[in-house]
Amino acid sequence: MDTDYLIDSDMTRQESAISRQSLSLEQATGLIVKRARQLVKQLVEQRGHSRPPFLPEEYARLQGIRRIEKANLGEVSAVLVKSYEGNMIKVNQNHNLARQNFSCAHEIGHVLLSELKIEPSMEEVEFRTFNPQAHAIFRAKARERLCDAAATELLMPEEIFKKYLSGFGISIRSLEWLADIFKVSISSTAIRIAEISPEPCIALLWRLRPGTEAKVLRLAWRVGPGKKSKGKTDYMPVHTLVKSTSTLYKAYQCANPVKCHKVFRLDAGVKRLPIESKGFGASEMRYVISLAFPAR
Ligand SMILES: [Zn+2]
Repeated sequence: MDTDYLIDSDMTRQESAISRQSLSLEQATGLIVKRARQLVKQLVEQRGHSRPPFLPEEYARLQGIRRIEKANLGEVSAVLVKSYEGNMIKVNQNHNLARQNFSCAHEIGHVLLSELKIEPSMEEVEFRTFNPQAHAIFRAKARERLCDAAATELLMPEEIFKKYLSGFGISIRSLEWLADIFKVSISSTAIRIAEISPEPCIALLWRLRPGTEAKVLRLAWRVGPGKKSKGKTDYMPVHTLVKSTSTLYKAYQCANPVKCHKVFRLDAGVKRLPIESKGFGASEMRYVISLAFPAR
């Protein structure tokens, strides 16, 4: 193939200069996100508009990926199949469309990562260890995180997502609208909101604690405000279990959003923060997403 992925020559030169040095994971993330942004820009120029959704099929075409094929992949989300005729992506047909979109965009992230040729430079900084097995695991994890960062930028380009977010205002309702408009999952949307919202926002996901008689929700993950939000706002919830008697638990039981307060900790201090929560999914897949607002 002779398309050379249409990287402008300045960027190529800059990147190869950096690739000779050592790279931290943070620097590598910056580079792959920048590369993803170029692809977004290229797509917007080609289409003549920047209205979401931004689908992996559109990016695949720009990256010379021949096609995306739905297949029965068992536990695997997606694979990038390389051949002399060009790459193709196989995606798990049993996953919902939002998840398929993320999986495909992640595979496109792998293509971007190999274009950038930054892995050898990351080796020096990030993978230094005496345990070869830990080395391999850490390396694989770092690579997957970079591809997720690329996928996030491709599907929910920061500037465009921000515009929609500020138009709707930050709430559980707008989270649902954004997920629908950008064709991404509820949880990826929650993470994206926490990462780039100008108003500090913490995203939390709760699941039922398995194997106990008493119904209790347990915190599965939490994403704090990104670097762009002002002040010290990265609060942790003091209690990571939610009893069935609490207001938050109602979000698990019913379909409507629930508003309440929860105590969070930052350094030595505690603060009651307003939070909005809503339950999604059915039966054992059911979970609750909360958005907490440190500045409200
Ligand atoms: Zn991967």
